[in-house]
Amino acid sequence: MQVYKFGGASVKDASGVKNVAALLQKVGHKNTLIVVSAMGKTTNALELVIKNYFENKTELQSSLQEVKKYHNEILLDLFENENHIVYKKVALFFDELNNFFNTNKSPDYNFVYDQIIGYGELISTVIISEYLNFIGLKNNWIDVREHIKTDTYYRSANINWEETQQRISTNFNKTVLNITQGFLGSDPNNFTTTLGREGSDYTAAIYAYCLNADSVTIWKDVPGVLNADPRYFENAQLLNKISYREAIELAFYGASVIHPKTLQPLQGKEIPLYVKSFLNPEAPGTRIGKNITLEPMVPCFIVKKNQVLISLSSLDFSYIVEENISEIFNLLHLYKMKVDVIQNSAISFSVCVDNIYDNLDKLLHHLKAKFKVTCHENVSLYTIRHYNQNAINQIEEGKTVLLKQLTQETVQVVSK
Ligand code: ADP
Ligand code: ASP
Ligand code: MG
Repeated sequence: MQVYKFGGASVKDASGVKNVAALLQKVGHKNTLIVVSAMGKTTNALELVIKNYFENKTELQSSLQEVKKYHNEILLDLFENENHIVYKKVALFFDELNNFFNTNKSPDYNFVYDQIIGYGELISTVIISEYLNFIGLKNNWIDVREHIKTDTYYRSANINWEETQQRISTNFNKTVLNITQGFLGSDPNNFTTTLGREGSDYTAAIYAYCLNADSVTIWKDVPGVLNADPRYFENAQLLNKISYREAIELAFYGASVIHPKTLQPLQGKEIPLYVKSFLNPEAPGTRIGKNITLEPMVPCFIVKKNQVLISLSSLDFSYIVEENISEIFNLLHLYKMKVDVIQNSAISFSVCVDNIYDNLDKLLHHLKAKFKVTCHENVSLYTIRHYNQNAINQIEEGKTVLLKQLTQETVQVVSK
């Protein structure tokens, strides 16, 4: 059994979908599950729809129309016959969405977000499933919400492993080509939940774990995992082999090529993870597995833009110790801040965070009641694994360094 994950970039238009079909024909599709994300930037587009809904904007319908138009163009490219059942199936999803807007009473942003955002994946998988059927690749469309059960921590739900395992064990046909949605799950009341942005990789790993798969392959628009994000670094190099541990570290520090939660379930069962190019599917790409030394052994650069550096000191020059630190962390957790780096001294505490859920103002308001607070928005966090002085110089050149932290294997620099 093999699990393939196709991200939004691989299916951003009709030719992407056709390429996925060609890839499956080339590399094989027996005993395969394919996990697919929303097409292109659909998740971002739906985030705008949700925002418009909550802010009672008149643009609600036009923003939804954009999403519809985008998918309709792909449909028209893939299925000339407009009487094909796929048109009806996609239209039904949009009806459901409108119905939700007309009837929803919940003021809970995170709950509403999850009920809307998942349509990106539902629509993409229906289109791809029907297209594969159309060209003769018969497949079984699975509603992932029937399999992956979670708690109600909307937008970053936690897996109920026992129930998920039980459902997948009893209700999955390993002998056919299956296709399902990444990113989604469902709570005990069967409301849709999501696993965090970019969570489709994690979905692939959850299935691989529960199915005892032989491998997972994430198909990307890059040759594999590189030693730096090619959007920000010239001459990024392909990493041929990485250990689970190294990959967990890279993902943790923000290498956006793999979702950080993906590695743990795979490592538990020693299921290898491949990252390969959907443009060149027969190239070896990157292999992630057990006890592998990084090959080649080069510095790995990770950059996170748009971070926030918050520095706190006590109002009365008292020490910042266990008690205040635990209070600070409780607030960071409450406002769902993703902590990147911390640094503390006797009377000060600095933390660099990713303000994913736009809660910075609320957090600062809360902190200012207790501490003297300074805040730098829009800073960049650079992490270098296996650094050398040359690599550090390359990062620091021409920038103002606000915070720097070195350990044996890793250096982190927050700069403006
Ligand atoms: P997907 O559609 O599969 O989710 P993403 O666009 O989220 O794909 O991720 C692929 C992109 O990640 C690449 O195009 C590349 O620009 C970027 N990226 C960031 N860091 C790395 C890295 N270390 N190695 C390879 N690609 C990286
Ligand atoms: N579509 C979701 C996102 O863009 C999940 C994913 O792509 O992994 O975040
Ligand atoms: Mg992605």
